[in-house]
Amino acid sequence: MRKKLIVGNWKMNLAPEEGARFVADLSAGSGDWPGVDVVVCPPFVTIPAVAAVLAGTRIELGAQNMHDQDSGAFTGEVSGHMLLTVGCKWVILGHSERRQWFGESDVGVNKKLVKALALGLRPIVCVGETLDERETGQTIAIIQRQLLNGLANIARQEIEKVTIAYEPVWAIGTGKVATLAQAADVHSFIRSWVGKTYDRQPARHTTMAGGAAEHIRILYGGSVKPENAREMLSNPELDGALVGGASLQVEAFDGIIRAAG
Ligand code: PEP
Repeated sequence: MRKKLIVGNWKMNLAPEEGARFVADLSAGSGDWPGVDVVVCPPFVTIPAVAAVLAGTRIELGAQNMHDQDSGAFTGEVSGHMLLTVGCKWVILGHSERRQWFGESDVGVNKKLVKALALGLRPIVCVGETLDERETGQTIAIIQRQLLNGLANIARQEIEKVTIAYEPVWAIGTGKVATLAQAADVHSFIRSWVGKTYDRQPARHTTMAGGAAEHIRILYGGSVKPENAREMLSNPELDGALVGGASLQVEAFDGIIRAAG
């Protein structure tokens, strides 16, 4: 049984003081959370202030992006190594907003993924189709392309450390949630793709018994709220949620975490 994972993507919201206050309030109610993993991903500058509050709590820290090099002349960028030094364990890669506004490609996402795994960060790789792609029947082809190129060069024993987030672009920040059937269909495609791709490889160094498809966590993202979280997360295909807007309100994010139990 895979443990559910709830990840908050704060995007470009919450300055250091606000972020620290947020996690102090959020963790106050964590004593009676169900057995789920919880991660928050603040903007880079907010990470240290949040890390100071999170020490000793069950909430883990992630970033929203990283560069694929350790250091160098890359103005405005932050390396995975730097993220580790401020307490991040997780990193979101290839979010659709990065792809849409900052020109990130599957190949670029793959370089970051390889680096994140080499550093011991836990990557959350986002995939998802646009509305036009869904309406023209291309959903599975798009997801397959993003997986094939984005997850290239990853060894069998590494894939289990990757989390995949299925985020239909048309459902992000729009209030439109994929139906459970739409989400579950894509999740089951992703899981079978992982099985076909990785479970054929020898698992000599694998850390866990069983196939990669059985262990990898696949999150849903796209307008998840406390009101729809229980239904979505009760489906065994959905191993958790990547939450944008609702992760900015303590009560709403807490409600989603509770719904995952
Ligand atoms: C996201 O940004 O990953 C996301 C899912 O946003 P929202 O929950 O606001 O749709």
